[in-house]
Amino acid sequence: MACSSGWWGGEGIEPQAAAARSLGFVTATEEVTQVGLADTYGRIATDLRVSLTDRCNLRCTYCMPEEGLDWLAKPELLTDDEIVRLVGIAVTQLGVHEIRFTGGEPLLRRGLVGIVARTTALEPRPEVSLTTNGIGLARQAVALKEAGLDRVNVSLDTIRPDTFVELTRRDRLKDVLAGMAAAQEAGLSPVKVNAVLMRGINDTHAPELLEFCLEHGYELRFIEQMPLDAQHGWDRATMVTADEILERLGEQFGLEPTDAAARGSAPAEIFSVRGGAQTVGIIASVTRPFCGDCDRVRLTADGQVRDCLFARTESDLRSAMRAGADDAELADRWRRAMWKKLPGHGINDPSFLQPARPMSAIGG
Ligand code: SAM
Ligand code: SF4
Repeated sequence: MACSSGWWGGEGIEPQAAAARSLGFVTATEEVTQVGLADTYGRIATDLRVSLTDRCNLRCTYCMPEEGLDWLAKPELLTDDEIVRLVGIAVTQLGVHEIRFTGGEPLLRRGLVGIVARTTALEPRPEVSLTTNGIGLARQAVALKEAGLDRVNVSLDTIRPDTFVELTRRDRLKDVLAGMAAAQEAGLSPVKVNAVLMRGINDTHAPELLEFCLEHGYELRFIEQMPLDAQHGWDRATMVTADEILERLGEQFGLEPTDAAARGSAPAEIFSVRGGAQTVGIIASVTRPFCGDCDRVRLTADGQVRDCLFARTESDLRSAMRAGADDAELADRWRRAMWKKLPGHGINDPSFLQPARPMSAIGG
């Protein structure tokens, strides 16, 4: 599935590095080494998203086709030891201090609790969180907390059972709600909720979803739908925009923007609700891109580094690792992989092309 022909992830890296040096951002490879995962536009990635599997037990319409996808074969997947080794290199040698495990559905990965425990044992200890659809979380929440997991983000787009089935093609709303409650009970808090609104399906449900989250003490964030579905069904003309969501919620909840400076590199714009301490967030990846502040890098379940969700090239750490590369060499390859990160995702450019790998195989 990797788009690149080799570990470099395509041509043009040396010229980009040279350009960065000529601009004065880096003067030598050694300086890049010191700052960790720096790209040629001055951004430094410190937040690593690790996909643990491309498989999933839901079929959200904005993510996957009904029949699922051609899953990665087991030998292609990183083993638990390989994941922990690469995460360890990122944390101890490359300045990464936040790890988010995702997928596909990460709760489907048998070794998840062990991977979390070994990650939270790293020095310096990174913040460790999980993005999940919540199915099975009721069973695993306590073990994950004991393994050191700090937080969870649970994806929930509606609280209406029939709409849940329409959106995810599975009748599992009760499991998701039980998972959220168990996570909160276990102290994996604050439980954050990710919601995507789809026109004509759940776009009018935003207020009741927010009311539900406020009642339960969950932090809701709406994510604009992005062109990352395997079916290529995204349509700029019909996507529900951040402005629309804010307008719909504004009248009922009296939203006020919170301190923009406090947002830092976080993608969500946060609004206080009814003048109180509770908040709602909007991640406007399409209509208000935040690429200039991006501090993320991704590792796929088959060991490819992606410098952006929308990258069209990848860098293959798995092959290098399985060919016997030591930690220093893997760290060096990872640093160099960042040099081709583009300034923005380009969704709004006429020349935009969707990446070959869909969201479920990248790790959102
Ligand atoms: N299965 C887990 C889940 O659903 O939380 C983790 C993986 S999922 C790919 C991560 C996040 O990506 C979810 O919050 C999901 O709503 C979001 N997502 C998936 N496809 C998307 C799309 N086309 N646009 C925006 N967000 C999307
Ligand atoms: Fe599965 Fe998450 Fe994609 Fe839904 S968004 S199909 S839960 S990977």
